[in-house]
Amino acid sequence: MTGKTTLATWPTPLERMPRLAAALGLGEDDLWVKRDDLIGLGGGGNKVRKLEWFTGAALAEGADTLVTTGAAQSNHARLTAAAGARLGLDVVLVFPGSPDGAADASGNLVLDGLFGARVHWAKDADPNALGVVAEEVCERLRGEGARPFLIPFGGSSPLGARGYVEGGEEILAQLPDVEHVVVALGSGGTMAGLVGALGERRVLGVHCGAVPDPAATVAALLGSGVEPRGLRVRTDQVGAGYGILHEPVLAAMRRAASAEGIVLDPVYTGRAMAGLVAAVEDGDIRPGQRTVFLHTGGLPGLFGHAQAVRRTVSGLSSWKPA
Ligand SMILES: *Cc1c(COP(=O)(O)O)cnc(C)c1O
Repeated sequence: MTGKTTLATWPTPLERMPRLAAALGLGEDDLWVKRDDLIGLGGGGNKVRKLEWFTGAALAEGADTLVTTGAAQSNHARLTAAAGARLGLDVVLVFPGSPDGAADASGNLVLDGLFGARVHWAKDADPNALGVVAEEVCERLRGEGARPFLIPFGGSSPLGARGYVEGGEEILAQLPDVEHVVVALGSGGTMAGLVGALGERRVLGVHCGAVPDPAATVAALLGSGVEPRGLRVRTDQVGAGYGILHEPVLAAMRRAASAEGIVLDPVYTGRAMAGLVAAVEDGDIRPGQRTVFLHTGGLPGLFGHAQAVRRTVSGLSSWKPA
């Protein structure tokens, strides 16, 4: 039985969003946002709850270096770098590609650098084979006398999901009559933990295109007894793919920002909000039903997403004196 570390102050706030609720056709008291974007470590986001468990396991086995994988704009990698800094552990991030990708020289990578993480660029290694490259990096580190601890892609494993069993329990304590929790589904650990706490019928995952079979991924993290088809997963917001801006997502980002001053990102939380909009439109979520939108963070990723940056800046309206 491993313990966990404490990387932030809990619980995170749960805020009512009456103006956004009205814009979506819900009642004033129906829509609440769980502010896991405000988690106070390294720019915030859902990965911190998982990292409390992974870093607890790493410290328990005497590790001195955290190793993980992701895309260059990975929020999980950035928060692993921050957790390492907080706990005095070295961090090596394994990313596909090479350091000269100028489009990536922004957003999360800026923070990775500030936190002092080192990056191993896997060049043209297949992004699906990054785990193998990370194992090789761990071998090399051991050869140098370090004690590495490998954290899986997205921090999604049964251990990481425990962070969101706790997150789900926190939501229940704050809003006991919650009927829907809407969450972005990336590597699946966040939804799996929430289902562990809240059951299959209350959690709606919005697939972001990060894994080939999202429902099977979440079911596998939950273990025996959970059927993929028993889970609520929307797959209508992937568009042309994980990293590509999907038009309804930009519209949902503008809505949340202009109605409530809440910033969503183009890869995860914007997709989750577009999924919530679609769920209200098709009657899966109805007025009068208490609904929590889990804000999983991702703000630095917005600044690392060239397409989203260009579209929002070109959409700025100018003021002219009358
Ligand atoms: C990783 C991430 C998610 C998805 O969480 P998973 O547990 O990987 O499904 C959602 N939102 C943001 C901002 C993330 O960084």
